[in-house]
Parts: sequence; C-alpha cells; structure tokens
Amino acid sequence: MSNQAYSFFQSVERSFDKAAKFTKLDKGLLEQIKACNSIYSMRFPVKMDDGRIEVIEAYRVQHSHHKTPCKGGIRFSIEVNQDEVMALAALMTYKCAIVNVPFGGGKGGIKIDPRKYSTYELEKITRRYTAELVKKNFIGPGTDVPAPDYGTGEREMAWIVDTYQSLKPGEIDAAGCVTGKPITQGGVRGRKEATGLGVFFGVREVCSMPDVMERLGLSVGIEGKTIVVQGLGNVGYHSAKYFREAGAKVVAIAEYEGAIYNAEGLNEEEVFQHRKKTGSILNFPGATNIANSKEALELACDILIPAALENVINHENADRVKAKIIGEAANGPLTPEADEILAAKKVLVIPDMYLNAGGVTVSYFEWLKNLSHVRYGRMEKRFTENLNGHILGQIEELTGKKVSEKERGFIMHGPEEVDLVHSGLEESMISATREIMDIWRSNPEIPDMRTAAYVNAINKVGTSYAELGIFP
Ligand code: NAD
Repeated sequence: MSNQAYSFFQSVERSFDKAAKFTKLDKGLLEQIKACNSIYSMRFPVKMDDGRIEVIEAYRVQHSHHKTPCKGGIRFSIEVNQDEVMALAALMTYKCAIVNVPFGGGKGGIKIDPRKYSTYELEKITRRYTAELVKKNFIGPGTDVPAPDYGTGEREMAWIVDTYQSLKPGEIDAAGCVTGKPITQGGVRGRKEATGLGVFFGVREVCSMPDVMERLGLSVGIEGKTIVVQGLGNVGYHSAKYFREAGAKVVAIAEYEGAIYNAEGLNEEEVFQHRKKTGSILNFPGATNIANSKEALELACDILIPAALENVINHENADRVKAKIIGEAANGPLTPEADEILAAKKVLVIPDMYLNAGGVTVSYFEWLKNLSHVRYGRMEKRFTENLNGHILGQIEELTGKKVSEKERGFIMHGPEEVDLVHSGLEESMISATREIMDIWRSNPEIPDMRTAAYVNAINKVGTSYAELGIFP
C-alpha cells in the first residue's frame, strides 16, 4: 500500500491506528491521544543586513499535555510546514513515552534555508522566534522545552536561552527552557554521542535475548557480529565506534560518494580521518571500494545500521537486503512497503522511534541538571572515591594481596558527569527494549517491533490521560 496519498501527519495517524487495535483503550481516549493539543502558527518581521524586511513563517506545536513540559526540537528548513511539525510533535510524544521520559511531545520549525542567511540574521530570527514563544507562553522549563533539530545546534540553543533569560529576569530555572546548549551555558556532557550510544545499547539488548537470536539464527551477544553502517555522521560514527569496541566487526561503511568493505572490520576513526584528508571514504587502505553506495545496504551482514537519510530501504531494494537485523538509527530509513517486505522475510527491524531516542533521553538529563543547578557527580565523586579507597585498602590488608594498577583505577573511580549520563542512557534503553519485547511476545498477532513500540506508547499515554480524568 503506497504512503503517497497521505500527509506526514496522516501517515503517523495510520501507524497509530494499526497499533491501537492491540490496546483496550476507549475510542474517545484514542482520539485524544492522536490529536495535536496546541498549534501556534506565527509570522513575524525581521530586518535583514541589506535593510529589507522579511516576513518569517514559523510554528510551534504541542502535541500532548498528558505530561509537561512538552519537548521537541526546532528545525530550520525550507521544507517546514504545519503538517510536518504536527507529525514530528506527535512522534515526540510516543518517543518520550517509550523511553520513559516524562514529557509531552512538541516540535518547532522555521521555514528558512539557514545557508542563505548571515550569522547575524540567523541570530535575529532565532531571538525573535523565542520572543514570540515567550509572548504566548509556548516556551519555559515547565511548559515547553525545545532542542536542536535539522539546521540548528548549540549556537541557536544558546541564543534561545539568552533571549528567554533576558525576558524573564530572575526566573531561577530559566536555563531549563531549552536543551542541547553548550556546556558553558548549562549543557550536559555526553549529549554528542548520545544517539549513537543509545542505538548500540538498544541493539545490544535485543542481541542478548536468546529467543530472539534463535529465531534469527544468530548467536547471543554482540561479539563477532558483522555490521554495515550507512552514514559516517554523528549517529553513524558513534554507533560504529561502540559496536567495534564491543567486539563486533564493522565490515562496511557507506557515505554518499561510495562505500568501503573489509571483512576483517573497519575502524571508524581511521576512516573518518582518511575521509577528512582525501575528501572521500573511497580508497581506504586495506578496504575494497563499492562505487555505488546503495549496494552496501545489500551486503551480507548480521546487523545493518542506516544512519543517514529517510526512505533508503524501499520497495526497490528491500527484497535484496541480506541483514538479519536492521537498527533504524536514522529517522524513517524504511518505507512502509519495505517494512512489509522485510517482515515477510523475517528480518527484525528495530524501530527508529525508540532506537534513536538517546538524544531526547540525554536532553531530559540536561533539563534535570538545570533544575537541580548542579553538575552531575559534583556531590558524590570525591565521597565515592574516598569510600572505595578505604574498602580497597581494607581488603588488601585483610588478604595481604594487591590489585593491579588498572583494576585499582577502575574500582577507585568516582562518577563524573559523563559516566552518569551514559549509565542513565543505558538503563533507559535496556528498559525500553524489554518493555517493547514483552508486549510483542505477549501477543503473537502484533506484526512487528514497530507496532509493539507504538502499543507501548499508546498504553502509557492513554493511562496517563485516563488517570488525569477529564477537566472539568
Ligand atoms: P549527520 O549530518 O551528522 O550525518 C549524516 C551522514 O550521512 C553524513 O555524513 C552524510 O554525508 C551521510 N549521507 C548523506 N547522504 C548519504 C547517502 N546517500 N548515503 C550514505 N551516506 C549519506 O546527521 P546525524 O545527526 O548523524 O543524523 C543522521 C540521522 O539520524 C538522521 O536521520 C537524523 O534525523 C537521525 N537522528 C539524529 C539524532 C541526533 O542526535 N543527531 C537523533 C535522532 C535521529
């Protein structure tokens, strides 16, 4: 069935309806979960460097208020429209519910091509957008907390927090009005690698399940598994790194100019440096070139990680995919047609909606840090090190033996911010994976893991709405 006749928001509704059949929720409640609660469509003028006034089109959508604040990125793209922002906000509601991040879904968008504006113009647009959000109470640590998305990053988040703080003087939790900030402005360590690390934790958990591995004809565990990664950007690079460090073999890496293959495994950092130096991933020492990058998706491997673009696996190539597991690191790398073809081939697709939720999970940790006004680890690091040193000293004295210097370092180490963020992410991804798998195991009618993930999200949001009751 083609997806073309449906808008993006309608196609999210269709995935929702497909999963809602497997819940016992009231029809009216399901309608409420699906609906976008608040939509703010705005137009505002900005004076450009040449003196021209340009009217900027922008949006902020709060899809669900079953938990507050709402959370979701801000996108700067010429493709932005209300339907897209609504769909992305809805996906954020479900994504947060799946990884137990207590936020409603939100999303923002400004319809501009950021490459066509000077830095000063972008700053004016971002600050004016923030001021519009403040005017309508669409931003704040307790109401709605944006984050980066396509075309935005730390720089824009710093402008947002600064604008917010200047309009809300003395608001003690103001730093929590946005996440993805630079560390010096209240950002958290561990954000950059969060999505790739979350992908690794999620796939590793699936691979630790004996029943799932037996069905796929694979051994339990990550060690020795062969991996193909598409896209050596932020998410692809970090996914490859953590798989390699866990003993898997990244046999191929694809970029848009081509792909490279080495059955013995590739080191992502060396490949990255080679690409930086030569301008291309091709001709990497010891690897075979694959001129047509797309062919990498069809290589024999245990796990395929598409971490570049949407719709890369579709009705044309899905049948030729030989991977046993596909970990959707990118957003929407499979079309609905590909989903059906791969389900028939018994390929396990680990869905994007939860697998790439590492970014939002760590955003939640950043927000918590901002509300607590203290860096993670600051209060307990020294205490833990002193305590561990004491325990170790006692053990050594009682046994008359000394541990190695390497072990000593490991045991003594008190938690730094990055350790706690990684550990919180690991816990979130493991629990989310287990919850989804339990739902899938409990009902053989549920066709795939994507639907099981939706069922989990719908049940959680529905329960929350039902417990809140209807006001008045
Ligand atoms: P990125 O821009 O850092 O990396 C994307 C990489 O893909 C680039 O290196 C690019 O050259 C490569 N690429 C582009 N076209 C390609 C092609 N045809 N074949 C092979 N490679 C190609 O982006 P990112 O932040 O790593 O995001 C990647 C995907 O993950 C996107 O779908 C994004 O929406 C999704 N995602 C990212 C995050 C995050 O925290 N960064 C969170 C959730 C989801």
